[in-house]
Amino acid sequence: MTTLDLPAAFADSPARALVCRECGHEVALSPVHVCVECFAPLEVLYDLDKLRSVTRQGIEAGPHTIWRYAGLLPAGQDLATRVDLGAGMTPLRKADNLARALGMRTLWVKDDSANPTHSFKDRVVSVALSAARAFGYTTVSCASTGNLANSVAAHATQAGLRAVVFIPNDLEQGKVVQTAVYGQTLVAIEGNYDDVNRLCSEIAENEEWAFVNVNVRPYYAEGSKTLGYEVAEQLGWRLPQQVVVPMASGSLLTKIDKAFGELTKLGLVEDAPVKVYGAQATGCSPIATAFENGWDTVRPVKPDTIARSLAIGNPADGPYALDAVRRTGGAMGHVSDEQVVEGIRLLASTEGLFAETAGGVTVATLRQLLERGQVDPDAETVLYNTGDGLKTLDAVAGEVGPTATIAPSYSAFVKTGLA
Ligand SMILES: *Cc1c(COP(=O)(O)O)cnc(C)c1O
Ligand SMILES: [Zn+2]
Repeated sequence: MTTLDLPAAFADSPARALVCRECGHEVALSPVHVCVECFAPLEVLYDLDKLRSVTRQGIEAGPHTIWRYAGLLPAGQDLATRVDLGAGMTPLRKADNLARALGMRTLWVKDDSANPTHSFKDRVVSVALSAARAFGYTTVSCASTGNLANSVAAHATQAGLRAVVFIPNDLEQGKVVQTAVYGQTLVAIEGNYDDVNRLCSEIAENEEWAFVNVNVRPYYAEGSKTLGYEVAEQLGWRLPQQVVVPMASGSLLTKIDKAFGELTKLGLVEDAPVKVYGAQATGCSPIATAFENGWDTVRPVKPDTIARSLAIGNPADGPYALDAVRRTGGAMGHVSDEQVVEGIRLLASTEGLFAETAGGVTVATLRQLLERGQVDPDAETVLYNTGDGLKTLDAVAGEVGPTATIAPSYSAFVKTGLA
C-alpha cells in the first residue's frame, strides 16, 4: 500500500505512518499490526508539525469527550467516520479519605467507570472503530476479557457496523449480558483469553474484518493516551508525580506514559518526571513477576484470578510496560484475590466509589507498594480506576450484604439495636 491509497478519511489525521517498535521499519497507514521485517508490533508515528498545531485553547474549546484530543489521535478527525458514544472526560476525584487511610498526602482517582459502557475500553474502541470505518470495514471483531466485548458491541451497534465478539465462556454474567444485549453476534469459546486471542488471529487472516486487538491494534492502543492527556488537563495542565495503572496486556500503562511525554514535547505542560507504577493480580502477574525478578522478557502464565479483565497470560505489551516503569523509576506489584476484594471494599468505604476487580487490584497494589516504601506517600499520585463494580458483582457478593433482615415492624427494628 502506498500513501496514495490512504482513504480520504485520514486526510486530517496527524498520523504519518506505522513504525516498528523494534527495528524502526516504516509502513504506510494501513490495517496491519506486525512488522514484515522482524514480526515485532507496529505503532503509530505522527507528523510532529501537525501535532504542534494543537493548543491548550483548542483542546479546551473541543467536545467534553476524548475527541477534544482529536489532533493527537490517529483517526476520527473525519466526523463521517468517527465512532463516538461520548467516551472520556471522566471525573478526576480528589480522594482525601482514601489518602488518609493509606497515609498519603495527595491522591486522586481517575474514575473511568464513568464511561458509556463503564470501563476505560470505550476510549480505545472509539478510536479503533473510527480507524476501521475509515479503512472501509463494515464488520468489526475482537477477543475480549469482558470490557472490550461490551464496548465493541455497543459502539459498533450505534455506528451501524456488524460486530462479531469472542469471549472465554467463563466470563462474569454481567459482562456477558452487557455484550449480548445490543443484539450483535457473541461467540463464547471453551478456553481462556489466550485461546480466544489465538483463534481470533487465525480468523483475522481469513476474514475481511477489523479486529480491534489484531489488525487495527496500533490505532486502538493510541486511544489509551487520552487517559494521560485528561489527567494533565484536569490538574490544570500539569503532570502528577506518580501514577498507578492496572495491567492486562500492558498497553494502557505504556500509552499513559507516552501521553505525558507528548504533552511535554509539545510544550502543553511543563517538563516534570512522572513515576509509573504497574498493578496485577498474583493469579495473572506475568509482567509484575518479570519486574520483581529483574527479567527483560515476560514469561507467559495460565491465568487464575477473579480479576478477569486483567487475565492476559501472554501480554503483548509486557516488555514495553517494563521499559516504561524502569525508565521512570516506578515499580510493579501484584496482589492476591483476597487483597483485590479488600481493595474494592477500601475504595468503596472511603470514597463511595464501587470499582470492578481491576480497580481492587490497583488500590491493593498501591497499598502494597506504600508498605514496601516503593511509592512516595508525600508525592502527588493518580490512581486509575478502569471499570465499574456492577460488572463484577460476584467478587464481593459473598462478602457484603444487609446489616439485618427483619419483619416490617417498628418493634423488630428496635430489637436490632441499630437505631
Ligand atoms: C483491558 C483493561 C485494562 C488494561 O488493559 P491493557 O491490556 O493493559 O491495556 C485495565 N482495566 C480494565 C478494567 C480493563 O478492562
Ligand atoms: Zn521490525
